Formats: sequence, structure tokens, C-alpha cells
Amino acid sequence: MLYKELALLYEKLEKTTKRLEKTLVLSRFFSKIKEDQDLKQAVLLAQGTVFPPWDSRELGIASKLVVKAISRATGLSSESIEKHWAEQGDLGLVAEIAVKHRKQQSLFAKQLTVDKVFKNLQKAAMLEGQGTVDQKIALVAELINCSTPLEARYIVRTVIGALRVGIAEGMVRDALTWAFLPKPLLVFGFCNNCGLVPGQKTCPLCNAPLSFTAPSNSEGFEIVDCSSKQVNTCLELLKQLKNASNVVVKTSSYEAARQLYNNITALVEEGFSLVNDYSQIAVILKNQGLKGLEGLSLQPGRPFRVMLAQKVESLEEGFKAVGKPAAIEYKYDGFRMQIHKQGDKIVIYTRRLENVTKQFPDVVSAVKESVKVENCILDGECVGVDPVTKKFVPFQNISQRIKRKYNIKEMVEKLPVELHLFDIVFLGSETIVKKPFKERRKLLESVIQESKHVKLATQLITDDLDKARAFYNQALNAGNEGVMLKALNMPYKPGSRVGFMVKLKPTAETFDLAIVGAEWGEGKRAHWLSSFVLACKDEISGEFLTIGKVGTGIKEKSEAGEGLSFEQLTELLKPHIVEEKGRSVTIKPSIVVEVTFQEIQRSPSYSSGFALRFPRVLRLRLDKSVEEVTTLNEVSQAFERQGKKPS
Ligand code: AMP
Repeated sequence: MLYKELALLYEKLEKTTKRLEKTLVLSRFFSKIKEDQDLKQAVLLAQGTVFPPWDSRELGIASKLVVKAISRATGLSSESIEKHWAEQGDLGLVAEIAVKHRKQQSLFAKQLTVDKVFKNLQKAAMLEGQGTVDQKIALVAELINCSTPLEARYIVRTVIGALRVGIAEGMVRDALTWAFLPKPLLVFGFCNNCGLVPGQKTCPLCNAPLSFTAPSNSEGFEIVDCSSKQVNTCLELLKQLKNASNVVVKTSSYEAARQLYNNITALVEEGFSLVNDYSQIAVILKNQGLKGLEGLSLQPGRPFRVMLAQKVESLEEGFKAVGKPAAIEYKYDGFRMQIHKQGDKIVIYTRRLENVTKQFPDVVSAVKESVKVENCILDGECVGVDPVTKKFVPFQNISQRIKRKYNIKEMVEKLPVELHLFDIVFLGSETIVKKPFKERRKLLESVIQESKHVKLATQLITDDLDKARAFYNQALNAGNEGVMLKALNMPYKPGSRVGFMVKLKPTAETFDLAIVGAEWGEGKRAHWLSSFVLACKDEISGEFLTIGKVGTGIKEKSEAGEGLSFEQLTELLKPHIVEEKGRSVTIKPSIVVEVTFQEIQRSPSYSSGFALRFPRVLRLRLDKSVEEVTTLNEVSQAFERQGKKPS
């Protein structure tokens, strides 16, 4: 497949901000790809990367090197490229112009293929160590040298990790579902100009009215009539279809069609949560349809997305959400660890899927000692303990251990940790996420021999509110953040924030927000970023929406182990700067901070429509990915709640 086709796709995506339209464009693009290899590469490149999310390797190549690559490929000087970049703010557009006016081009430049771009970018990303800088530049320059101006725009943006075409993960899921799976009529309709499209009234592409009569088979569609069948029976029937991209399903009502559609997307989402790679899912859907998803499983060694909890405000609300009796557990104030054991090989990942095995040799050896089974995947919380008092210490105190690359031994002694395990999702050779929680906990107990550094999460099973309250107080007195309440009969849903596992904390409301902009400081702060622009996430479009600016809660100077400083935050944010205009910088959402505030107000000044009054940074959340920040829906719920409080 030619890279030109992908570049044209990017251009089309960039031209619209409408989610439905983007998804449809993407879905039609995927559905036309014949070769599995092309499909895999295109799905990753469409997301602006060449590695699936479970793979900790990253594409990001420093912008400075890309400037050199553009210079080498076009003959323009680095200085002039930098100058244009400072004016334009987008290195991709600068590359496009540079290629348009290039002084040199190889006589033998061939048309770029997706495969060539993919492989060069993978190679460049994998080069490490001294003397590889020049090779990296050469690999990128080779691509720019063969590219058209439009191709250069997107190659450069991909390389620096700022594709800017607005594709959220959920869009890729929907696009693949629409491309390869059966489409229930009424959720999808026919447009005279654009064919089968999602929509209830008008076409999302051309606005023409939609019709909902089933087409005849001669129009190239296969009709499956489920109008007299239950949704689940229909779903089972659809699972038998291998090639279902042209299947249209008739149901008895809009509600039935919607339910069927939701069940289909839920199966795709579930499959993704297990393998964490839409390029793999794409090939399965294309060749095997829905049935293929049943063959997916967790794999020790490959990180998965952990299950997340919803928030409740009281124990009563907690019981209401998860049912009685429920398991109540300490909510440890540490960070999530998923432990993968394959024989003697132990690998530890954070909830952001970062491999932190090297940073935690103490946990590795403790797991070897305590876990009495060959293969398993465990879920738990790593908590700091004070070496003298043996009491839990707040997460902030041990957070440095996550990123630490040197003097690990010293860190292990200075900041000791304990692992508190609360779930098991893979055992022996089997994915056991479908088993009810109480059974998983039994299995967990059977494989763990508690030791000094590996423990089972402290748990009480009760239906009694008073006992629950006593346990909650006991949890707080022991230095925990609060408690978790868990339904006993529910499965483990990787990647989902579920209502059958809830968290209860006594603290005031906090939001986890992404930093999307900042300003360079003045005077003695001139080298530091200050006044950080915060953003929540629109759960539907996946876009980051601003909600305020914050400068308080951050210290002037880094003091050993204590608090977050401007210096530290600047260092963390610098590599993610995508645009600079005067003192203002735009930052690719990558860093998450936990923020408290006095009040939420409606505000036209920020794109979320809300503003935080007196925000204050509580702490850096390196353990959280930007995908996990507070959603717009959560912000508006908190806004509503606040209205209910007596003033
Ligand atoms: P939050 O980070 O505020 O969203 O709270 C949820 C987090 O609490 C989980 O992702 C875990 O990292 C952590 N946690 C601590 N103790 C437990 C527990 N017993 N069960 C589940 N999660 C826990």
C-alpha cells in the first residue's frame, strides 16, 4: 500500500472535527485494505505510532534531530527550518514547505509505501546508545527525501509524536467495528449518495435523509433477519459469520438494534482490553469476524489495562452500588502494579503499562519467594513503608522510585515498599477474568504465601453497615487513603471503570487533569514553565478540554523527596512541547496532576465550559496516563453535586 493513501486519509481527517465523520472516513479506509500486514501497519500509523500500546518502546524522536533530517533531505539550512518552525509552530507544515521548495532530490526517489515508512520509523525508534543519532537522522531523512510535500507533513508529525488529526482510541474501535462487523439497521441507514452509514435521520457525510428499508441481496449486502429473535440469540448467530462486513441485520425495533450494536462494540472493546492492540484486533475482525475475539486471552509478559473503580461518597452508596454482602478492602495509597510471572521471569508494569521491573528488584525477589505457581498475572498496589516506624507512607514519598534509573539499591533501602495483592487474572494457562471476584480471591489466596514484602489486601466480607464503618476507620487509622467496596460475584473487566468496584475516600473533591499548556516564567523563573493550563477529557470525542490554569501547590525548588517543583515539572514537560508562541507553549497531553479546588464555575473562557476556582496542585500522577484523566461528564457531575450542597 502506498503511503500517499494514508497521507490523504490524514488530510481528510484533519479537515473535519466531527467525530462521526472522522470515524466513518477511517472505517472506509480500513475496510478497503486487502493485506493483513498493510492493515496492521495502517491501524498503528493512524494512531500516530508504530508500536501497540502494550509495547513500551516509543516512537518519539527529538524534534532537533528531525530538523536535521529535514535539512539533510531538502538542502535547507537547519537555522532556516528552526526559524520557520518558531513562526509556524508546526514542524510538519515546515517540512511540507521545505519539500515543496527543496533544492535537491534523489533521482531515484521511489514512491513511498506504508511498509517502508513503518519499518524506517520502527528502526529509528529502536536505535539506542552512542553513535546512533546519525543513523536515526538518516532513516527519517530517507523518508522525507522520497516524500511528496503532503507525505512529509505527516511523516514529520508522526516522528515527533504530534500527528494532530484527532483520532481517539474509541474512534479506532468504532471504525473497525463498522468496517468488518455486521451492521444493525436503524442504527445504520442508507444514504443515496454515501451508502450504508451510521445515523438515525441524516447522513453524517452529506446530510441527505436516510432510509431504513433493508436492501436487496443484489445490492451486495447480506441480510440477516433477527426481527423475531432475542438480541443474544442474534449475537450468537452473527458470531458464526466469518466475513461480515456486508452484513445488515434486521431487528424488531430501534432499541433492539441499539442493544445489538452496543453488545457488538462491547465484545470488540473487551477483546482490546485483553491484548491491548487494535492492529491485532483489526486482522482478527477482518478474517474471522466476531468469533475470532473469543480466541483472545491475556498473555503473561504483555501488560493489559487494569480494571478501574468508580467513586462513591458514602458507605451506604457503596453498598448500593456493589450489593450486599460485599468485600471491603483497604485502599492503599501507593501505585498500581500488575505482576506477570512466567516461571522465574517476573515482569512488573504500572497501570500506564510502563515496565518498571528494573526499578523494583526488591518486589521481584519478594514475588519469587511468595508466589507459589509457575505462571500467573496478579493485580495489586505497591505501598511505601517507613523503614523505622513500619507505617505506610503517602504515595508521594515513594513516587521517585517509579522513574529512577540509577542507584536503585540505595533507593530500595531508603524507600522500602510492600506489595498488597488484591486480584488474579491469569493462572496456569488460563485467563480467569470471567470468574466471580470471590473465586478469584480464593485462587489468589491459594497461590500466595504472605511474606514481609508481599501481602494479600486486608479484606472484610460483610453486609453490616456498622462493621463496614469500623473497618473504614481502621483503614484510615492504618494510614490508608480509604476503602474499596467490591461485588463478590462480578468478573474482572480489563480496561473498564466499573460500578461494581468502587472507591471511598474522605478527602475533598480532586480531579486528575492533563497539562496542555504553560507559560515561561519571568525573572528568576525565566527558565521554568509556570502557570499550567489544565484539561479534562471529553469521553465522547476523546478531546482534551481546558478547565483552568494553575500555579499554586508547586514549590520553587526541588527538595529531596518532598513535593513537586517548577524545575521538575519543566523537565518533565519540555519534551512534550509542540508549539511555542511568545511565552506561551502548547504541550502534548502527557503529564497528569491531581488538583484540588474551591469550586467549579461555568465559564466561557475554557473549552470545557467550566473553570476551577482556586485550583491547587496536590501531586504529580506519573502513575496515571492521560487517557485516565477526569472526564467532562465527571466534571459536570461534580458541578451538579456542588449545587446540592448547602452553602
Ligand atoms: P484512584 O487512583 O483514586 O482512581 O483509586 C483507584 C486506585 O486505588 C486503584 O487503581 C489502585 O491503584 C488503588 N487501590 C488501592 N488499594 C486497592 C484495593 N484494595 N483494590 C483495588 N484498588 C486499590
